[in-house]
This record gives sequence, structure tokens and C-alpha cells, in this order.
Amino acid sequence: MNILLFGPNGSGKGTQGSLLKDRFHLAHIESGAIFREHISGGTELGKKAKEYMDRGDLVPDEITIPMVLETLKEKGKNGWLLDGFPRNMVQARKLWEAMQNEGMPLDYVVEIHLGRETAKNRIMGRRLCVQDNNHPNNIYIDAIKPAGDLCRVCQGKLVTRADDQDEAAINKRHDIYYDTVNGTLAAAYFFKDLASKGLTKYIELDGAGDINTVKEALIARLG
Ligand SMILES: [Zn+2]
Repeated sequence: MNILLFGPNGSGKGTQGSLLKDRFHLAHIESGAIFREHISGGTELGKKAKEYMDRGDLVPDEITIPMVLETLKEKGKNGWLLDGFPRNMVQARKLWEAMQNEGMPLDYVVEIHLGRETAKNRIMGRRLCVQDNNHPNNIYIDAIKPAGDLCRVCQGKLVTRADDQDEAAINKRHDIYYDTVNGTLAAAYFFKDLASKGLTKYIELDGAGDINTVKEALIARLG
């Protein structure tokens, strides 16, 4: 089973992705990891990508798309879950064309819906337990609200991660994600349109629920 996963930062996409990966034994392929592996592995595409990155330039799609495809073919032989790519409309079209050329099926496209304000709050509301980073706490999610200033599980001290409090960076990422004309949501809608033609299946989930509710809804839809 090959799945594309869309959702804004803060929607629980990473968590749902790893749950799906375990359940269906998929290779969980994240866009950042694709770049890192090609570069550290010294592949031809990785070398080219590094030249752009060293100059501080964006890696062009002519390099990125084949890199993604190669990784899907190598690591995702028995099914893959692609997360964090495509990021925009142009990449969506090019990825689809490349997959068509390879005869690679796209079984499902999953979109996790979450309003922009809620997504931002969820990121900024994350609190890390210093005793155990598997103790989730979030001041904006009722189910995992901290006990006062302390971890709801073990009463450990809570801290924030600098990245989670960088509002400008969050806004920048969300500007790209929520752009329905050229951005990531436009990419998602490209696949939604393909689904309306019967070329793939499109699953929309309400990300406002708790992790387990979203997970159950997703698994029920995947059959
Ligand atoms: Zn704790």
C-alpha cells in the first residue's frame, strides 16, 4: 500500500504517520530524511543537491523528484508512506507524472484537517517532560493538559522546545501549507481531483479529535 500524507505542522501528522507505518508495515519516508540519506550516501543526485544547499539555494525539482522516486523504489518496495512531500502544486504534478512513468500506484492520499490557529496553538502549547519525553503534555489539548506547571503523568518539570516557540518560523511553514493556490493544500487538492477521476482514493480526517479518535477513523477508512 502506497500512501501520501498531508497535514499542517501541529496536526499530529507525524504521530499518525508512525501509527500507520506500524499497522501496515510501510516504509515511513520523510522528505528531510530523503535529502540527508542521498547526501550522506554520496549518490549522484545527493551530490547535485548538496551543491545547491551549500550555496543556500533551493534544490530544483529536477533533482528532488528523482531523489524522492529513487527512495520510494528502494525503501518502499513493500509499501510506503510519504510525509512532507510534495510541498507545492508543481511538485505534486511532477511527482504524479514520475509515478505514472514508473507504473507506481498511489493507493491513498490522506489529508488531516486542522484550522491554522489551532495548529499553531498546538505547536506552541507543547511541553516536554524532563523525566520522560514519552509523556505528552500540551496546554492547548484538554486530554493531555499539564497538572499545573508539572507533567500530568509523573509531576516532572516541564520545558518548552525553542523551535516550538518560534512563531515566525511556524507562520512561515503554515503560509506554505495553507496556500490553496500554489502551496501544499493546492498539492493535496491536485490529488483530490485525481481521486474524483478514480485515479486514487482521498481520505479526509478531522485532526481536531484526540490521537486515538483520528487513528481509528483513519484505519476504518483504509479498510
Ligand atoms: Zn513526565
